[in-house]
Amino acid sequence: MTTPPWQIDGYQHIWMPYTQMQTAPLPVPVVGTDGVSLILADGRRVIDGLASWWSACHGYRHPHIEAAVERQLKAMPHVMFGGINHEPALRLAQRLAALLPGDLNRVFFSESGSVSVEVAMKMAAQYWLNRGVRGRTKFVSFLHAYHGDTITAMSVCDPVNGMHAHFRGFLPEQFNTDLPLDEESTTALDRLLGEHRDEIAAVMLEPIVQGAGGMRFHPPETVATIRQLCDAHDVLLIADEIATGFARTGTMFACEQADVVPDIMCVSKALTGGTMPMAATAATDRVFEAFLSDDPAHALMHGPTFMANPLACAAAHASLDLFEREPRLEQARVIETAIAEQLADCRELPGVVDVRAKGAIGVIQVDQLRHVGWLRERFLEEGVWIRPFGDAIYITPSLVISPEDLSTLCAAMVAVVTQWSELGE
Ligand SMILES: *Cc1c(COP(=O)(O)O)cnc(C)c1O
Repeated sequence: MTTPPWQIDGYQHIWMPYTQMQTAPLPVPVVGTDGVSLILADGRRVIDGLASWWSACHGYRHPHIEAAVERQLKAMPHVMFGGINHEPALRLAQRLAALLPGDLNRVFFSESGSVSVEVAMKMAAQYWLNRGVRGRTKFVSFLHAYHGDTITAMSVCDPVNGMHAHFRGFLPEQFNTDLPLDEESTTALDRLLGEHRDEIAAVMLEPIVQGAGGMRFHPPETVATIRQLCDAHDVLLIADEIATGFARTGTMFACEQADVVPDIMCVSKALTGGTMPMAATAATDRVFEAFLSDDPAHALMHGPTFMANPLACAAAHASLDLFEREPRLEQARVIETAIAEQLADCRELPGVVDVRAKGAIGVIQVDQLRHVGWLRERFLEEGVWIRPFGDAIYITPSLVISPEDLSTLCAAMVAVVTQWSELGE
């Protein structure tokens, strides 16, 4: 791959995410995006199997989103939100409240998923304080969870992936336990909530699909069980739908599959169709009402500089228009069927532990992710961008991907993983 001059010069100054910069190969230089493809510096087009961390649900540079952002750019790119209101944000809050399950009627905007998780945790802890209950400041999360990279969000991630040992004494200590997938784990969660309810503010869950913790799926019954146990012990439930929201798992929100309404929900990633950084934390009427009081200290003390950014709001409105006008849910289901069929042959390969599909997510889980650099190069040779992590070689394509491009993507996965399994150690 040719290295453009801006990469040679600038790489001495950039700090890349999740990267050991002494040993990592140079990242792939990208100069443009078009439809479901990335355009590389050497002019090659590759199909983006990840839709930019599963955010670009309508493909890249969708004309409807582009036009909305351009219009907003001319009118008001940004304005502070403290003491000021604007139509793009208020109409977006109204629209989200109508779209989100149940009475998740109050929307707090921020600029990244991790921050929306911080806000959700702050809301949950202060909910109890405002009601005169002291000491309920801890959270329950699950093995393989991922809720973001800021300190409090990290504290509810999987203890190993979240590097809890590494950051001991720095991260707040939380309760981390198994998802209630069977009788034993359900009893264990029930007991944990019963014994520690006076310390626990909320349970934190990625419903149906645990994303960055390994693209692991659980059935709707598990989500329903967690809701029931939270109710039984009077503990709040926070749903982190940052990955699962906006049709990724085949329903608009994953909670819908379990008919569950959480007390607080976080959304981000596909909220603006992958165009602008934006997140939202939505609360039910009950949670919001706990913040209403004559006491100013009962207010939610949070307010990012770029919250409710009008450009991001415009992109989110345009993205929601597309969900209304175009068959995204149907597309997610069609993608699920195609992925399940086309990846099935990998199941018997040595080193492959599991092959699964849920909505527009396809996963080949391996026993150990070896030859990562080799995988990256081979995928690019096959004309696709796929970035395996943990024990998962996975795709989360745009929902608008054509059957032909999806077949190319799946065929590349089958071909490359087949060769990979023959490489051995
Ligand atoms: C990506 C993600 C986050 C963090 O969002 P950022 O915008 O990267 O801070 C949190 N939770 C889940 C489930 C995610 O997929």
